[in-house]
Amino acid sequence: MKTITILGSTGSIGTQTLQVVRHYAEDFDIFALVAGTNVDRMAEQIELFRPKLVVMKDAEHAEALENRIQERSVDAITEILYGMDGYLAAVTAPEVELVVAAMVGMIGLRPVLTAIEHGKDIALANKETLVCAGHLIMKAAREHKVRLLPVDSEHSAIFQCLQDVPGGPFVDGRPVEYGGHAGGTGASVRGGASVESPIETIFLTASGGPFRRATKEELESVTVEQALAHPNWSMGAKITTDSATMINKGLEIIEATWLFDVPVEKIHVLVQPKSIIHSMVGFRDGAVLAQLGTPDMRVPIQYALMYPERRELDDKRLDFEELANITFEKPNTDVLRGIPIATESARIGGSMPTVMNAANEYAVEKFLQKRLPFLQIYGMIEYAMEQHTVCEEPSLTDILEAEAWTYRILDERLEQ
Ligand code: NDP
Repeated sequence: MKTITILGSTGSIGTQTLQVVRHYAEDFDIFALVAGTNVDRMAEQIELFRPKLVVMKDAEHAEALENRIQERSVDAITEILYGMDGYLAAVTAPEVELVVAAMVGMIGLRPVLTAIEHGKDIALANKETLVCAGHLIMKAAREHKVRLLPVDSEHSAIFQCLQDVPGGPFVDGRPVEYGGHAGGTGASVRGGASVESPIETIFLTASGGPFRRATKEELESVTVEQALAHPNWSMGAKITTDSATMINKGLEIIEATWLFDVPVEKIHVLVQPKSIIHSMVGFRDGAVLAQLGTPDMRVPIQYALMYPERRELDDKRLDFEELANITFEKPNTDVLRGIPIATESARIGGSMPTVMNAANEYAVEKFLQKRLPFLQIYGMIEYAMEQHTVCEEPSLTDILEAEAWTYRILDERLEQ
């Protein structure tokens, strides 16, 4: 039995994680569930999963949850905390073995880093943490020898293709010393011996989102409802908007550079509209391995929870005859500028990816509140990046300061 904490349990990834946990109830014990404001869903989760600890975003929602539990007469002894101290208690308790990182945005950074420093394995969906602090997270993961198990479907696919590949960036799910990241040599070090990286190219697939073939003129009047209508995946509002702008693919490129220790130049984005191939790895001998499946996030979630085992998952299977063909396209980067903007931030490095990410979080929130037009999401990110003076090797404090600075200047910009 594995004892786990879920950060973001009321969200899209959180609820699908709990579906897997419920199906394999004999394999998991829930220590803590952590969420923001969704009191009703959390009350249901307490009733079903009986966690020892629950954490909400603030005192107001913690109190609302206490009242809801009493109204529903939930028979559970659950401690209720709130805010960052609560998040840290949820990930550091000695009995916790694995933390599912499924909060949305940079708020997940401190809990994830702290969990790693306490030796907890991580099932990582919260890509923003790696985008902003990949250098800190990967270093801590190596030092504390924790498993860093990707949940993002593309990164899970790449991770699966890299199992048992000699000289790869992971051994037994744990990242190892490797020199491939931007500016590195591409050589990995095993027991003092230097080995050439086996990875030639990572083919990161993308559905292209709802505006794959849109013109700039068409995007000028995009509504929130149109942006949230993803063709293949049902996800939270922030990542769905990121998929529409293709910023999501840009964030995933940065996530992949850190996880698989490869430079941006080795990552090739391919639009594959049906989301059947979840990603591929091209090796130095010309061979290409791919991971395929129906678009169902429970597959990568379950793989991360059960790693390295593969257990039954009762759902649709791919029907290759019905599929008939799988097509590929280049991403529409002239109109959907998420990839070039994010990769530019990665090339600059230091605190710039944090500013790019924080500006995106800010702008998406305003877009979803109908206070900013769709195309202005790019405008806000570019403005923040232009104004920023880079801090080369940012500490956690520097990263959080860069985030606060970004929000400040964008607030001013929005009011102008
Ligand atoms: P959702 O918006 O559906 O869920 C986000 C979760 O985070 C909710 O439980 C929410 O709580 C919680 N949360 C938000 N703010 C806070 C806060 N300040 N304090 C505590 N908890 C908070 O997002 P998704 O599940 O779609 O995405 C989660 C992460 O996984 C993102 O980083 C996303 O990029 C990544 N991801 C998601 C995929 C998907 O299929 N959904 C696929 C691949 C990656 P509440 O709702 O109660 O406020």
